[in-house]
Amino acid sequence: MNRKVAKQVRVSLSAVSRLEAWFPLVLRDLPWRNRRTPWRVFVSEVMLQQTQASRVAEKFPAFVRQFPTPKRLAQAPEQDVLALWQGLGYYRRAKNLQAAAKIISTQFGGRVPSTVQELQSLPGIGRYSAGAIASIAFHQAAPIVDGNVARVFSRLADRRESAKDKIAQEWLWSTAEKCVRSAKSAAVLNEAWMELGATVCVPKNPRCMQCPVRACCAGFKANSQEFVPLKHSAAPRRTVVHHALVEIRGSKIGMQTRPSKGLWAGMLSPPVFESSSVLSAATLLREVGDIAHIQQFRGEFEFLTTHRTIRIRVYLVKFRSQAKLRWIDLQKLNEYAVSNAVLRIADAAVQK
Ligand code: SF4
Repeated sequence: MNRKVAKQVRVSLSAVSRLEAWFPLVLRDLPWRNRRTPWRVFVSEVMLQQTQASRVAEKFPAFVRQFPTPKRLAQAPEQDVLALWQGLGYYRRAKNLQAAAKIISTQFGGRVPSTVQELQSLPGIGRYSAGAIASIAFHQAAPIVDGNVARVFSRLADRRESAKDKIAQEWLWSTAEKCVRSAKSAAVLNEAWMELGATVCVPKNPRCMQCPVRACCAGFKANSQEFVPLKHSAAPRRTVVHHALVEIRGSKIGMQTRPSKGLWAGMLSPPVFESSSVLSAATLLREVGDIAHIQQFRGEFEFLTTHRTIRIRVYLVKFRSQAKLRWIDLQKLNEYAVSNAVLRIADAAVQK
């Protein structure tokens, strides 16, 4: 095995110079690349953690315009931060980003720290993000491995295993480290790996004929690129049912603030009753004391999170007068901290 790993590492190292030459030629015009500051790199890396670059490109400029420094973000009301995060999903990242901004302001003199260790001490910054920020913002030889990089490495070396397995992870990180140490520029190489995985060595139908490292790709030679890396046998996804209870008054929708922990924490949403299965109207009326009656079932859609399938069922209801609701203009929903699921709930409620 050791001899095999040594060969695999050499293969990856021969890809380094090819990739460093290739990346400047294909560099996509993305707003965080126009002007690099440690803070802009930090914000972009947090946004990119679970969101596609094209979506981040739409949201990033307004966010850094409103919060151009860690201090400005640290001082902002949380609802303003969540509202500007709207459309990026995984809102816990926005809260972590603001918590990190507070620590940067108080403990690092308002400057983004430059070492992987310091970066990893901040909320929401794992090994990958710390490596990306340290290399791109501070030109340190810090390795990165995410899903894209893991797929490229696994194919380059034709490693027929799941990239999530423990031994595979150790190999991936040590390979990334050896590669970045041999690079002329850690920033260019790390971004090149990400770009290659996002645009060429994609999960399905990789574009091998356009690939700058095809000549040193064992997966291409073995024709294994379609099934390497192997799929991880994941735990079964849990299904939960959200009964969304919507009252519309004129042009306004009744909303509440969600609990401070859990999915979409602290964001606005119509009242939701959660259960493990679909409940009848009679059961909903019994369980949710604030409903006077249920007028109509308006349909259902699914929302997927990392571990759950959420069946969201939309009901038009009439609440009792004691129900504590905030009436929000439907036309202005986008200006509030609401999830994409809430926008779909509102659509389902008002559609003729
Ligand atoms: Fe991926 Fe194909 Fe390039 Fe190999 S040759 S790294 S499989 S795109």
